Amino acid sequence: MKTAIIVVAAGSGSRMGGETPKQFLPLAGKPLLMHTLGRLAEALPDAELIVVLPQAHIARWTALCEEQAFTLAHTVVAGGKTRFESVKNGLNAAVGCEMIGVHDGVRPMADRELILRVLSAAREFGAAIPAVPVTDSLREIPANRPVDRNHYAAVQTPQFFRAPLLIEAYGREDAGFTDDASVVEAAGTAVALVPGDPKNIKVTTPVDLAVAEVLLK
Ligand code: C5P
Repeated sequence: MKTAIIVVAAGSGSRMGGETPKQFLPLAGKPLLMHTLGRLAEALPDAELIVVLPQAHIARWTALCEEQAFTLAHTVVAGGKTRFESVKNGLNAAVGCEMIGVHDGVRPMADRELILRVLSAAREFGAAIPAVPVTDSLREIPANRPVDRNHYAAVQTPQFFRAPLLIEAYGREDAGFTDDASVVEAAGTAVALVPGDPKNIKVTTPVDLAVAEVLLK
């Protein structure tokens, strides 16, 4: 049975400066999003890739694919105002799948072991997400109180789910969650935590881009 991965890259927020969306910024010679898609296809060659982009950037992405002779098969859909809406639009394109993954387009460093580890746990438990320990000290705000970081983990993507669970969860109201595990959990499904990978960074700032450049060498 088919697996689909929804790659969300329709966020408008950028702390990179410049007008190029961060998912299109050059990384080791090609747009960041192409690295992300390449990693997913390497781990799961038979998976269907669904890329969610802002409507306004779809033509630019098509042009970049031509320029770079990027021939990896993928479906492009337009995103929404919130991450929830973007995932929902992606889900409409994921028909007849057994398992569905959701991955941030700006995580180009997810490797095969990580991807397969999460998918395998999701097959077993229904829903699985990668998480890594928090290394910074943490404070609750605005109370400005220290909290015990050992009680927290940083959640990454890809997150995988049995398809009916994710589809049912996204049939509900958008509660402003920042990841899919929270949406599924709110719909009543427990989510399994598997070890993430500190190298699986979310490229959000120019520093992250420089780190990704080094990690790719
Ligand atoms: O904003 P944040 O960094 O949490 O976004 C996580 C991921 O969700 C990013 O890959 C971003 O492009 C995506 N997103 C989206 N549509 C939105 C908002 C965020 O696809 N409306």
